[in-house]
Amino acid sequence: MTLAHFLDGLRCADCHALDALWLDAMRGLVECRECGHRVTVIPDHLDERRNS
Ligand SMILES: [Zn+2]
Repeated sequence: MTLAHFLDGLRCADCHALDALWLDAMRGLVECRECGHRVTVIPDHLDERRNS
């Protein structure tokens, strides 16, 4: 089982590098391998919280 998934077609919001983002499922974040920018990912099962 691979816990790190590269995200095709996504662009880093910080350095704008394409296909440089990868998902760290263990820590629940997306990290850019170009600039190290990190974004916390909200798990799917928590989506309903955002509707309130
Ligand atoms: Zn970046």
